[in-house]
Amino acid sequence: MERLTRERTGAIVVAAGRGERLGAPKQFLTAGSIRLVDHAVAAAAVTCDEVVVVLPANQSWDGVEVWAAVVGGETRADSVRAGLAALSMDIEIVVVHDAARPLASPELFTLVIDVVRSGADAAVPAIPVADTLKRVVADQVIETVDRAGLAAVQTPQAFRSSVLRRAHEEAPNATDDAGLVEAVGGRVVVVAGDARNIKVTTLADVAIVEALMAEAGQ
Ligand code: C5P
Repeated sequence: MERLTRERTGAIVVAAGRGERLGAPKQFLTAGSIRLVDHAVAAAAVTCDEVVVVLPANQSWDGVEVWAAVVGGETRADSVRAGLAALSMDIEIVVVHDAARPLASPELFTLVIDVVRSGADAAVPAIPVADTLKRVVADQVIETVDRAGLAAVQTPQAFRSSVLRRAHEEAPNATDDAGLVEAVGGRVVVVAGDARNIKVTTLADVAIVEALMAEAGQ
């Protein structure tokens, strides 16, 4: 049954990275003739009431219509804060998503949003870690890390807006927003992530994304 008062949702698609590892901002590469950032914005747009895309300083937005396009900051957390500032204050659930993950499905957005609607402070998708993990200093293995209980966390990550805003005010930088919420004692719930929802870091990842899209008939 449709809720009488549906909580409004907003997405922040962070696309302000400089692409230092690849030499160019990877989120503007194309996969299947569409830019990675456009794939990410499309999934956000079908599931959220407002979408804010966060861009590098020298880049203007020429994709589909969004609520706002703003300039990001030095770190990913700075870019999320720029996005938060552009969302309406009546947005109650905020979803933060990396533009570098073009294969996040609308279903995954809906899943994390629903967990926050049900009362969690935050919901993050995660998949089991497949590789053996070792702690390494310089070129020396210090120890093999026990994989049990470890998970690789993806985006989209959904948050109760007030919790995310407070976490960004109180906590220092973290590589993901759930880390900030954990730091202020918030309850972060894990949902099943999607192995297809890879983060593009190298050119080879773009080829993988294209192959996965072709397989899914996208
Ligand atoms: O560099 P990394 O892969 O962790 O970046 C994850 C996402 O955060 C990318 O979509 C990137 O564009 C974004 N980002 C950002 N502002 C930064 C750094 C990264 O929006 N200063």
